[in-house]
Amino acid sequence: MRIISIIVPVYNEEKNIPLLYDKLTIIGEEIREKYDLEIIFVNDGSTDTSQQVISDLSNSDDRVKYVELSRNFGKEVALTAGINNCRGVACIMLDADLQHPVELIPEFIRKWKEGAETVIGIREENKNGGLIKNAGSSLFYRIINRIASVNIIPGATDFRLLDRIVIDEFNKFTERNRISRGLMDWLGFKRSYIWFKVGERVRGRPGYSFFKLLRLAMNSFVSLSLFPLKIAGYLGLLITTISGIMGLFIFIENFILKDPMELKFSGPAMLAVFIMFLVGVVLSCLGLMALYIAAIHGEVVNRPLYVVRKKNI
Ligand code: UDP
Ligand code: MG
Repeated sequence: MRIISIIVPVYNEEKNIPLLYDKLTIIGEEIREKYDLEIIFVNDGSTDTSQQVISDLSNSDDRVKYVELSRNFGKEVALTAGINNCRGVACIMLDADLQHPVELIPEFIRKWKEGAETVIGIREENKNGGLIKNAGSSLFYRIINRIASVNIIPGATDFRLLDRIVIDEFNKFTERNRISRGLMDWLGFKRSYIWFKVGERVRGRPGYSFFKLLRLAMNSFVSLSLFPLKIAGYLGLLITTISGIMGLFIFIENFILKDPMELKFSGPAMLAVFIMFLVGVVLSCLGLMALYIAAIHGEVVNRPLYVVRKKNI
């Protein structure tokens, strides 16, 4: 029978795992005739008894599998480990804290059977996100869509279904600093969306602090776009141009025409303009180097040049 893998990243979720498991078994009944369920818990270096809870479940139910990471690597890597190890014809990723409604899983499977290769859960609103987190996330999407070459939908979450072909392609990525969502969006393929309301976190505390999210955002910018690298260059060109014009003006007005406008430039003022010009030159050179680094970056992350859906040669 064909297997559908459920991938759950776990970081200190001892209280939530049993609740999630109960819900998943109910869903399992619903899709039982067509598919077997495989539940993969990826323990991302939890410091509580999560591993014990997972091992117990796995002993009593052989559909429950787990990957235990050596330490806390962060959710992105945990998800990747789950995807690398799943055997299903499709996988569904969801959070352990029950914020991703388990009841929607049959809906994900339905869209997938209708032909979607990636089904993405979109968050409708987040009441408990807090003002800073919400403002931060809307700013993040605005910037990333401006500077990155892939389009990322605001509110798109990690609550996703991936078809086996997407899984296989995803497994080819080798980059270390990764944003799974960004890579999945980069891959393309036929997508479908499901809107859902984020529930309250059931037990425990969210593992993502403001700074962890900020780092995640920075990683997204850097891994999906080379624009930040080129900022120095653009700034340099701007400064060089402005100070160049100013310097030329001073030179002509002061030294060639002998100050007809009586502006009486002081020595330090002229020096300042000169130094500004040099700073611009230095920044421009940095921008030039950025172009080379960008080329190296492109080679080192070693992303496939293109991705094939199906072959018939
Ligand atoms: N998580 C993880 N590693 C981490 C932080 C979180 O595997 O370092 C898991 C966590 O157990 C949960 C999911 O990622 O299943 C989402 O985490 P959280 O609820 O803290 O994030 P938020 O809901 O605020 O996005
Ligand atoms: Mg959560």
